[in-house]
Amino acid sequence: MSRLKDAIDDRRDQLIALTQDLIRIPTLNPPGRHYRDICDYLEARMSRQGWRCEMIRAHGAPGDCEEFPHWNIVARRQGAKPGDFVHFNSHHDVVEIGHGWSRDPFGAELDGDRIYGRGACDMKGGLAASIIAAEAFVATHPDHAGSVEISATADEESGGYGGVAHLAELGAFAHVDHVIIPEPLHKDRICLGHRGVWWAEIETQGRIAHGSMPFLGDCAVRHMGAVLEEMEAALWPLLAGKHTEMPVIPEGARSSTLNINSIHGGAVEQAADYTGLPAPCVPDRCRIVIDRRFLIEEDLAEVKAEIAALMERVKAQRPSFRYEIRDLFEVIPSMTDKGAPVVRTTAAAIQDVLGREAGYVVSPGTYDQKHIDRIGKLKNCIAYGPGVLDLAHQPDEWIGVQDMSDSAKVMALVLEELLTGS
Ligand SMILES: [Zn+2]
Repeated sequence: MSRLKDAIDDRRDQLIALTQDLIRIPTLNPPGRHYRDICDYLEARMSRQGWRCEMIRAHGAPGDCEEFPHWNIVARRQGAKPGDFVHFNSHHDVVEIGHGWSRDPFGAELDGDRIYGRGACDMKGGLAASIIAAEAFVATHPDHAGSVEISATADEESGGYGGVAHLAELGAFAHVDHVIIPEPLHKDRICLGHRGVWWAEIETQGRIAHGSMPFLGDCAVRHMGAVLEEMEAALWPLLAGKHTEMPVIPEGARSSTLNINSIHGGAVEQAADYTGLPAPCVPDRCRIVIDRRFLIEEDLAEVKAEIAALMERVKAQRPSFRYEIRDLFEVIPSMTDKGAPVVRTTAAAIQDVLGREAGYVVSPGTYDQKHIDRIGKLKNCIAYGPGVLDLAHQPDEWIGVQDMSDSAKVMALVLEELLTGS
Protein backbone atom coordinates (compact mmCIF):
# COMPACT_ATOMS: atom_id res chain seq x y z
CA MET A 1 0.00 0.00 0.00
CA SER A 2 1.62 3.23 -1.10
CA ARG A 3 0.12 5.26 1.78
CA LEU A 4 2.57 3.55 4.08
CA LYS A 5 5.51 4.16 1.76
CA ASP A 6 4.49 7.82 1.53
CA ALA A 7 4.44 7.97 5.32
CA ILE A 8 8.09 6.84 5.34
CA ASP A 9 9.01 9.42 2.68
CA ASP A 10 7.30 12.10 4.78
CA ARG A 11 9.56 11.17 7.68
CA ARG A 12 12.87 11.48 5.82
CA ASP A 13 14.08 14.44 7.92
CA GLN A 14 13.07 12.63 11.09
CA LEU A 15 14.95 9.54 9.95
CA ILE A 16 18.11 11.60 9.42
CA ALA A 17 17.75 13.46 12.72
CA LEU A 18 17.09 10.28 14.68
CA THR A 19 20.11 8.51 13.17
CA GLN A 20 22.29 11.52 13.96
CA ASP A 21 21.06 11.69 17.54
CA LEU A 22 21.80 8.00 18.07
CA ILE A 23 25.32 8.25 16.58
CA ARG A 24 26.08 11.27 18.80
CA ILE A 25 25.62 9.15 21.92
CA PRO A 26 29.02 7.37 22.07
CA THR A 27 27.96 3.96 23.35
CA LEU A 28 31.45 2.48 23.26
CA ASN A 29 31.87 -1.18 24.08
CA PRO A 30 34.04 -1.98 25.89
CA PRO A 31 33.51 -0.74 28.53
CA GLY A 32 29.84 0.06 27.90
CA ARG A 33 29.66 3.85 27.94
CA HIS A 34 26.42 5.86 27.81
CA TYR A 35 24.16 2.82 27.63
CA ARG A 36 21.73 4.49 30.01
CA ASP A 37 21.81 7.70 27.96
CA ILE A 38 20.78 6.00 24.73
CA CYS A 39 18.03 4.07 26.54
CA ASP A 40 16.78 7.31 28.13
CA TYR A 41 16.77 8.99 24.73
CA LEU A 42 14.72 6.17 23.20
CA GLU A 43 12.36 6.00 26.17
CA ALA A 44 11.62 9.72 25.85
CA ARG A 45 10.87 9.37 22.15
CA MET A 46 8.80 6.20 22.29
CA SER A 47 6.80 6.90 25.45
CA ARG A 48 5.82 10.32 24.09
CA GLN A 49 3.96 8.38 21.39
CA GLY A 50 2.30 6.00 23.79
CA TRP A 51 4.72 3.08 23.63
CA ARG A 52 5.20 1.27 26.93
CA CYS A 53 8.90 1.22 27.72
CA GLU A 54 10.77 -1.09 30.02
CA MET A 55 14.37 -0.45 31.07
CA ILE A 56 16.28 -3.58 31.94
CA ARG A 57 19.73 -3.58 33.45
CA ALA A 58 21.76 -6.75 33.00
CA HIS A 59 22.88 -6.98 36.63
CA GLY A 60 25.82 -9.32 36.97
CA ALA A 61 26.44 -9.69 33.23
CA PRO A 62 30.09 -9.53 32.12
CA GLY A 63 31.22 -5.89 32.39
CA ASP A 64 28.13 -4.62 34.21
CA CYS A 65 29.18 -2.40 37.13
CA GLU A 66 28.11 0.81 38.87
CA GLU A 67 30.34 2.93 36.63
CA PHE A 68 29.19 1.21 33.43
CA PRO A 69 25.75 -0.29 34.02
CA HIS A 70 24.63 -2.38 31.07
CA TRP A 71 21.16 -1.09 30.21
CA ASN A 72 18.66 -2.32 27.66
CA ILE A 73 15.28 -0.96 26.60
CA VAL A 74 12.22 -2.69 25.24
CA ALA A 75 9.41 -0.48 23.87
CA ARG A 76 6.04 -2.06 23.15
CA ARG A 77 3.02 -0.88 21.21
CA GLN A 78 -0.04 -3.01 21.88
CA GLY A 79 -2.59 -3.18 19.07
CA ALA A 80 -6.34 -2.79 19.23
CA LYS A 81 -6.99 -6.50 18.90
CA PRO A 82 -5.15 -9.79 19.31
CA GLY A 83 -2.65 -10.84 16.67
CA ASP A 84 0.98 -11.62 16.00
CA PHE A 85 3.87 -10.20 17.96
CA VAL A 86 6.64 -8.62 15.88
CA HIS A 87 9.94 -7.70 17.52
CA PHE A 88 12.75 -5.57 16.06
CA ASN A 89 16.02 -5.99 17.92
CA SER A 90 19.00 -3.71 17.47
CA HIS A 91 22.15 -3.55 19.50
CA HIS A 92 22.96 -0.04 20.68
CA ASP A 93 26.66 -0.59 21.43
CA VAL A 94 29.47 0.34 19.05
CA VAL A 95 33.10 -0.73 18.82
CA GLU A 96 36.11 1.49 19.45
CA ILE A 97 36.92 4.26 16.98
CA GLY A 98 40.35 3.03 15.84
CA HIS A 99 42.58 5.11 13.59
CA GLY A 100 42.25 6.59 10.13
CA TRP A 101 39.10 8.73 10.39
CA SER A 102 38.67 11.81 8.23
CA ARG A 103 35.30 12.65 9.88
CA ASP A 104 34.31 13.21 13.47
CA PRO A 105 33.42 9.66 14.65
CA PHE A 106 30.59 10.96 16.82
CA GLY A 107 29.70 14.05 14.77
CA ALA A 108 27.07 12.27 12.63
CA GLU A 109 27.90 14.56 9.72
CA LEU A 110 25.45 14.44 6.81
CA ASP A 111 27.24 14.66 3.47
CA GLY A 112 25.11 14.09 0.41
CA ASP A 113 23.22 10.85 1.01
CA ARG A 114 25.58 9.63 3.73
CA ILE A 115 25.67 10.01 7.49
CA TYR A 116 29.11 9.35 8.95
CA GLY A 117 30.05 8.06 12.36
CA ARG A 118 30.97 5.07 14.48
CA GLY A 119 27.94 2.80 14.57
CA ALA A 120 26.27 4.53 11.59
CA CYS A 121 25.99 1.28 9.67
CA ASP A 122 26.52 -1.18 12.56
CA MET A 123 23.78 -0.55 13.53
CA LYS A 124 22.25 2.74 14.59
CA GLY A 125 21.04 3.30 11.04
CA GLY A 126 19.14 0.02 11.25
CA LEU A 127 17.72 0.92 14.65
CA ALA A 128 16.54 4.30 13.33
CA ALA A 129 15.00 2.65 10.25
CA SER A 130 13.03 0.20 12.38
CA ILE A 131 11.74 2.98 14.64
CA ILE A 132 10.62 5.13 11.71
CA ALA A 133 9.04 2.05 10.08
CA ALA A 134 7.08 1.25 13.24
CA GLU A 135 6.01 4.85 13.82
CA ALA A 136 4.82 5.23 10.22
CA PHE A 137 2.97 1.93 10.46
CA VAL A 138 1.19 2.88 13.68
CA ALA A 139 0.24 6.29 12.28
CA THR A 140 -1.16 4.66 9.14
CA HIS A 141 -2.88 1.77 10.92
CA PRO A 142 -3.74 2.99 14.45
CA ASP A 143 -6.19 0.11 14.86
CA HIS A 144 -3.72 -2.65 13.90
CA ALA A 145 -3.84 -6.10 15.44
CA GLY A 146 -1.10 -7.73 17.48
CA SER A 147 1.90 -5.94 18.91
CA VAL A 148 5.13 -4.36 17.86
CA GLU A 149 8.23 -4.28 20.04
CA ILE A 150 11.46 -2.43 19.50
CA SER A 151 14.42 -3.30 21.64
CA ALA A 152 17.81 -1.63 21.83
CA THR A 153 20.22 -3.92 23.57
CA ALA A 154 23.73 -3.89 24.99
CA ASP A 155 26.91 -5.76 24.33
CA GLU A 156 26.30 -7.43 20.95
CA GLU A 157 29.86 -6.58 19.99
CA SER A 158 31.16 -8.53 22.99
CA GLY A 159 28.90 -11.56 22.82
CA GLY A 160 25.49 -10.14 23.76
CA TYR A 161 25.43 -11.56 27.30
CA GLY A 162 24.37 -8.26 28.85
CA GLY A 163 21.90 -7.70 26.02
CA VAL A 164 19.82 -10.18 24.04
CA ALA A 165 21.04 -13.20 26.02
CA HIS A 166 19.95 -11.49 29.23
CA LEU A 167 16.52 -10.58 27.83
CA ALA A 168 16.07 -14.10 26.48
CA GLU A 169 16.91 -15.55 29.91
CA LEU A 170 14.17 -13.34 31.37
CA GLY A 171 11.70 -14.77 28.87
CA ALA A 172 11.46 -11.62 26.76
CA PHE A 173 10.91 -13.66 23.58
CA ALA A 174 8.38 -16.13 24.96
CA HIS A 175 5.40 -14.24 23.51
CA VAL A 176 7.17 -13.10 20.31
CA ASP A 177 6.26 -14.59 16.91
CA HIS A 178 8.65 -12.82 14.51
CA VAL A 179 12.05 -11.22 15.04
CA ILE A 180 13.92 -8.92 12.67
CA ILE A 181 17.44 -7.81 13.58
CA PRO A 182 18.30 -4.76 11.43
CA GLU A 183 22.03 -5.54 11.11
CA PRO A 184 23.69 -4.05 7.99
CA LEU A 185 23.23 -6.93 5.56
CA HIS A 186 21.99 -4.66 2.77
CA LYS A 187 18.44 -3.61 1.97
CA ASP A 188 17.80 -6.32 -0.64
CA ARG A 189 19.09 -9.31 1.32
CA ILE A 190 17.71 -11.49 4.06
CA CYS A 191 20.22 -13.02 6.43
CA LEU A 192 18.96 -16.40 7.62
CA GLY A 193 21.60 -17.10 10.24
CA HIS A 194 25.27 -17.67 10.87
CA ARG A 195 28.01 -20.29 11.03
CA GLY A 196 29.10 -21.83 14.31
CA VAL A 197 32.10 -20.80 16.41
CA TRP A 198 34.56 -22.61 18.58
CA TRP A 199 37.37 -20.70 20.26
CA ALA A 200 39.97 -22.63 22.16
CA GLU A 201 43.40 -22.14 23.63
CA ILE A 202 45.96 -24.83 22.90
CA GLU A 203 49.01 -24.98 25.11
CA THR A 204 52.10 -27.07 24.46
CA GLN A 205 54.21 -27.82 27.48
CA GLY A 206 57.94 -28.42 27.90
CA ARG A 207 60.62 -27.76 30.51
CA ILE A 208 62.63 -24.62 31.18
CA ALA A 209 66.44 -24.80 31.01
CA HIS A 210 69.43 -22.59 30.18
CA GLY A 211 69.39 -21.47 26.56
CA SER A 212 73.01 -22.53 26.08
CA MET A 213 72.06 -26.13 26.89
CA PRO A 214 68.67 -26.61 25.26
CA PHE A 215 69.13 -30.40 25.35
CA LEU A 216 68.59 -30.17 29.13
CA GLY A 217 65.15 -28.64 28.62
CA ASP A 218 62.19 -29.33 26.39
CA CYS A 219 61.15 -26.57 24.01
CA ALA A 220 57.40 -25.87 24.02
CA VAL A 221 57.78 -23.60 20.95
CA ARG A 222 59.23 -26.46 18.90
CA HIS A 223 56.32 -28.63 19.99
CA MET A 224 53.96 -25.89 18.84
CA GLY A 225 55.88 -25.72 15.56
CA ALA A 226 55.08 -29.39 15.04
CA VAL A 227 51.42 -28.71 15.81
CA LEU A 228 51.32 -25.89 13.23
CA GLU A 229 53.05 -28.08 10.64
CA GLU A 230 50.44 -30.75 11.15
CA MET A 231 47.74 -28.11 10.73
CA GLU A 232 49.32 -26.94 7.47
CA ALA A 233 49.70 -30.46 6.14
CA ALA A 234 46.43 -32.01 7.24
CA LEU A 235 43.93 -29.60 8.79
CA TRP A 236 43.66 -26.62 6.45
CA PRO A 237 43.30 -28.83 3.36
CA LEU A 238 40.61 -30.83 5.18
CA LEU A 239 38.70 -27.68 6.18
CA ALA A 240 38.94 -26.16 2.69
CA GLY A 241 37.32 -29.32 1.35
CA LYS A 242 34.23 -28.99 3.54
CA HIS A 243 31.46 -27.12 1.76
CA THR A 244 28.13 -25.98 3.07
CA GLU A 245 24.67 -25.62 1.65
CA MET A 246 24.33 -22.43 3.72
CA PRO A 247 24.46 -19.35 1.44
CA VAL A 248 27.31 -17.83 3.45
CA ILE A 249 28.84 -14.57 2.30
CA PRO A 250 31.52 -13.89 1.29
CA GLU A 251 32.04 -16.99 -0.86
CA GLY A 252 35.28 -17.94 0.94
CA ALA A 253 33.32 -18.53 4.12
CA ARG A 254 31.28 -21.32 2.50
CA SER A 255 33.96 -23.71 3.74
CA SER A 256 35.04 -24.40 7.27
CA THR A 257 37.71 -21.96 8.40
CA LEU A 258 40.34 -21.79 11.11
CA ASN A 259 42.20 -18.70 12.21
CA ILE A 260 45.05 -18.59 14.68
CA ASN A 261 44.29 -15.47 16.64
CA SER A 262 47.54 -15.34 18.56
CA ILE A 263 50.69 -17.18 19.51
CA HIS A 264 52.76 -16.70 22.64
CA GLY A 265 55.76 -18.72 23.72
CA GLY A 266 58.60 -18.39 26.19
CA ALA A 267 59.35 -15.34 28.32
CA VAL A 268 56.84 -12.53 28.47
CA GLU A 269 57.75 -9.79 25.99
CA GLN A 270 59.15 -6.61 27.54
CA ALA A 271 57.78 -3.15 26.83
CA ALA A 272 58.91 -1.60 23.54
CA ASP A 273 61.05 0.98 25.36
CA TYR A 274 62.90 -1.61 27.46
CA THR A 275 66.56 -1.48 26.50
CA GLY A 276 67.85 -4.64 28.16
CA LEU A 277 68.45 -8.00 26.52
CA PRO A 278 66.26 -11.09 26.99
CA ALA A 279 67.43 -13.92 29.27
CA PRO A 280 68.47 -17.24 27.70
CA CYS A 281 65.77 -19.78 28.55
CA VAL A 282 64.18 -22.74 26.85
CA PRO A 283 60.47 -21.90 26.62
CA ASP A 284 58.39 -24.23 28.76
CA ARG A 285 54.99 -23.00 27.56
CA CYS A 286 53.59 -22.01 24.18
CA ARG A 287 49.97 -21.07 23.56
CA ILE A 288 47.82 -20.38 20.55
CA VAL A 289 44.22 -19.25 20.46
CA ILE A 290 42.29 -20.79 17.60
CA ASP A 291 39.07 -19.46 16.06
CA ARG A 292 37.31 -22.28 14.28
CA ARG A 293 34.15 -21.40 12.29
CA PHE A 294 32.01 -24.38 11.45
CA LEU A 295 29.12 -25.24 9.17
CA ILE A 296 25.58 -26.34 9.88
CA GLU A 297 26.52 -29.74 8.44
CA GLU A 298 29.21 -30.15 11.10
CA ASP A 299 28.81 -31.16 14.69
CA LEU A 300 30.64 -29.25 17.45
CA ALA A 301 31.80 -32.49 19.07
CA GLU A 302 33.32 -33.59 15.73
CA VAL A 303 34.98 -30.21 15.32
CA LYS A 304 36.62 -30.61 18.72
CA ALA A 305 37.52 -34.23 18.02
CA GLU A 306 39.33 -33.16 14.85
CA ILE A 307 41.71 -31.00 16.88
CA ALA A 308 42.10 -33.62 19.59
CA ALA A 309 43.04 -36.20 16.94
CA LEU A 310 45.55 -33.80 15.42
CA MET A 311 47.20 -33.24 18.81
CA GLU A 312 47.37 -36.99 19.38
CA ARG A 313 49.05 -37.49 16.00
CA VAL A 314 51.73 -34.96 17.00
CA LYS A 315 52.05 -36.60 20.40
CA ALA A 316 52.66 -39.97 18.79
CA GLN A 317 55.79 -38.59 17.09
CA ARG A 318 57.24 -36.61 20.01
CA PRO A 319 57.97 -38.65 23.12
CA SER A 320 57.96 -35.75 25.61
CA PHE A 321 54.99 -33.93 24.11
CA ARG A 322 52.31 -32.70 26.48
CA TYR A 323 49.43 -30.35 25.77
CA GLU A 324 46.18 -28.93 27.04
CA ILE A 325 43.13 -27.69 25.13
CA ARG A 326 40.89 -25.17 26.89
CA ASP A 327 37.48 -24.23 25.53
CA LEU A 328 36.95 -20.46 25.47
CA PHE A 329 33.69 -19.88 23.59
CA GLU A 330 31.25 -21.77 21.43
CA VAL A 331 28.17 -21.00 19.35
CA ILE A 332 26.08 -23.50 17.44
CA PRO A 333 25.23 -22.54 13.82
CA SER A 334 21.78 -21.07 13.28
CA MET A 335 19.76 -20.97 10.08
CA THR A 336 16.11 -20.02 9.77
CA ASP A 337 14.08 -21.93 7.22
CA LYS A 338 13.43 -20.04 3.97
CA GLY A 339 9.77 -20.92 4.31
CA ALA A 340 9.46 -19.31 7.77
CA PRO A 341 6.77 -16.60 7.94
CA VAL A 342 9.15 -13.71 8.69
CA VAL A 343 11.34 -14.72 5.73
CA ARG A 344 8.48 -15.00 3.26
CA THR A 345 6.91 -11.74 4.39
CA THR A 346 10.19 -9.83 4.20
CA ALA A 347 11.01 -11.28 0.77
CA ALA A 348 7.62 -10.12 -0.55
CA ALA A 349 8.18 -6.64 0.92
CA ILE A 350 11.64 -6.39 -0.70
CA GLN A 351 10.07 -7.30 -4.05
CA ASP A 352 7.40 -4.64 -3.52
CA VAL A 353 9.76 -1.82 -2.50
CA LEU A 354 12.83 -2.54 -4.63
CA GLY A 355 11.25 -4.34 -7.55
CA ARG A 356 13.66 -7.23 -7.37
CA GLU A 357 13.90 -10.60 -5.74
CA ALA A 358 15.41 -10.82 -2.27
CA GLY A 359 18.83 -12.42 -1.89
CA TYR A 360 19.38 -14.94 0.88
CA VAL A 361 22.60 -14.96 2.83
CA VAL A 362 24.17 -16.41 5.93
CA SER A 363 26.68 -14.43 7.99
CA PRO A 364 30.24 -15.76 8.33
CA GLY A 365 30.31 -14.52 11.95
CA THR A 366 27.66 -14.67 14.62
CA TYR A 367 25.32 -12.03 15.94
CA ASP A 368 22.47 -11.92 18.46
CA GLN A 369 20.30 -14.40 16.53
CA LYS A 370 22.20 -17.14 18.41
CA HIS A 371 20.60 -16.13 21.71
CA ILE A 372 17.11 -15.78 20.24
CA ASP A 373 17.47 -19.24 18.73
CA ARG A 374 19.15 -21.08 21.65
CA ILE A 375 17.83 -19.34 24.74
CA GLY A 376 14.68 -17.76 23.35
CA LYS A 377 13.79 -20.96 21.43
CA LEU A 378 12.48 -18.87 18.55
CA LYS A 379 13.37 -19.99 15.03
CA ASN A 380 11.37 -17.40 13.14
CA CYS A 381 14.18 -14.82 13.17
CA ILE A 382 16.23 -13.05 10.51
CA ALA A 383 18.68 -10.22 10.16
CA TYR A 384 17.50 -7.60 7.72
CA GLY A 385 18.65 -4.00 7.61
CA PRO A 386 20.30 -1.18 5.66
CA GLY A 387 24.01 -0.65 5.20
CA VAL A 388 27.11 -2.21 3.73
CA LEU A 389 28.46 -4.93 6.01
CA ASP A 390 32.08 -4.32 4.96
CA LEU A 391 31.93 -0.82 6.49
CA ALA A 392 31.23 -2.17 9.97
CA HIS A 393 34.03 -1.43 12.45
CA GLN A 394 35.97 0.57 9.77
CA PRO A 395 37.12 4.21 9.85
CA ASP A 396 34.70 6.64 8.17
CA GLU A 397 31.81 4.21 8.65
CA TRP A 398 28.64 5.58 7.05
CA ILE A 399 25.01 4.77 6.34
CA GLY A 400 23.08 5.81 3.26
CA VAL A 401 19.86 7.76 3.86
CA GLN A 402 18.15 6.23 0.81
CA ASP A 403 19.09 2.73 1.97
CA MET A 404 17.64 3.42 5.41
CA SER A 405 14.48 4.82 3.90
CA ASP A 406 14.06 1.84 1.54
CA SER A 407 14.62 -0.70 4.28
CA ALA A 408 12.24 1.21 6.58
CA LYS A 409 9.61 0.78 3.86
CA VAL A 410 10.31 -2.95 3.75
CA MET A 411 10.00 -3.22 7.54
CA ALA A 412 6.79 -1.19 7.54
CA LEU A 413 5.28 -3.41 4.83
CA VAL A 414 6.22 -6.46 6.88
CA LEU A 415 4.26 -5.00 9.80
CA GLU A 416 1.35 -4.20 7.54
CA GLU A 417 1.27 -7.75 6.18
CA LEU A 418 1.60 -9.43 9.55
CA LEU A 419 -0.57 -7.13 11.64
CA THR A 420 -3.35 -5.95 9.36
CA GLY A 421 -3.64 -8.78 6.88
CA SER A 422 -4.01 -6.22 4.09
ZN1 LIG B 1 26.20 -5.23 14.58
